[in-house]
Amino acid sequence: MGNVEVGRRIRVSFEFFPPRNEDMEATLWQAIGRLAPLQPNFVSVTYGAGGSTRERTHATVKRILAETMLTPAAHLTCVAATRAQVDAVIEAYAEAGVRHIVALRGDPPGGIGERYVPHPGGYRNAADLVAGIKRIADLEVSVSAYPEKHPDSADMAADLDMLKAKVDAGASRAITQFFFGNDLYFRYLDRVRAAGIDIPIVPGILPVQNFKQTRNFAARAGASVPDWLAARFGGLDDDPATRKLIAAAVAAEQVLDLADQGVSDFHFYTMNRADLVYAICHLLGLRPGNARTLSPVETESA
Ligand code: FAD
Repeated sequence: MGNVEVGRRIRVSFEFFPPRNEDMEATLWQAIGRLAPLQPNFVSVTYGAGGSTRERTHATVKRILAETMLTPAAHLTCVAATRAQVDAVIEAYAEAGVRHIVALRGDPPGGIGERYVPHPGGYRNAADLVAGIKRIADLEVSVSAYPEKHPDSADMAADLDMLKAKVDAGASRAITQFFFGNDLYFRYLDRVRAAGIDIPIVPGILPVQNFKQTRNFAARAGASVPDWLAARFGGLDDDPATRKLIAAAVAAEQVLDLADQGVSDFHFYTMNRADLVYAICHLLGLRPGNARTLSPVETESA
């Protein structure tokens, strides 16, 4: 493991969520401060369910623009909003200097599992939103992708049709829902390419900071949690220190295997915490400053 070819360029991006209070704000900015020197390709800021964090997402993205050298990407959903309301958000981002949006449909207001009904005056789905963004400004647009299909999709073919529609509307990158078996990603990638979709499909990596929470979230998001993963965290409910070591080992194994198999771009769901993600990026050969490629020494010792 870890014999990633010398000099191959590894690119990472980090996802954060907008903080709800001052303590969370401090935690977020500690994480940004720690991860920024790794020079991510971009950092993204999520948009709360139903647009609930519109102002906080905007404020976080603006602060990243004002106080760092990072390139922010603002997540945006079209749930429970008119086109005019969503367009106003896009225009405000473009005016503030944001050049990249992660365009999503979003979950129904009652949560995943409820039937999604578009707002009568709103964008119908993520593809429609991508087209809307492109009409307003020439922004880079990333979208979601689901290696195990989205729970709303009747089958994988319907899921790929939606991805294709998003690409046809102007999306230039897809970021996947998290997954734990790399074979799921590579099988999906084969199907994506067979469907004639050629944009980068960047694996979304979730270092498991909290196994119980992850299992609950995965169940709603339609991501499978393999038995071997549950077994690795088994018996550690009252042992956070060991859980953390296991989480680092699991994510490192996943990411290094992806890298070994030729993956060079990674998107990390940081949950606003830097330590695990920083360690995994270090294993990938990233160093503070300009060292975005693996050095020969690093490769030899990997
Ligand atoms: P789409 O790509 O529009 O659709 C997903 C799939 O569902 C499609 O493949 C399609 O086949 C199927 N589908 C869609 N609509 C219907 C329908 N009406 N009937 C039948 N099938 C349908 N959520 C947030 O609230 N805020 C965020 O910031 C956020 N960031 C995310 C980032 C990433 C990288 C990912 C993977 C997800 C994110 N989500 C976020 C979650 C996302 O909003 C939900 O998964 C949502 O349920 C679907 O949005 P989408 O853009 O992925 O949907």
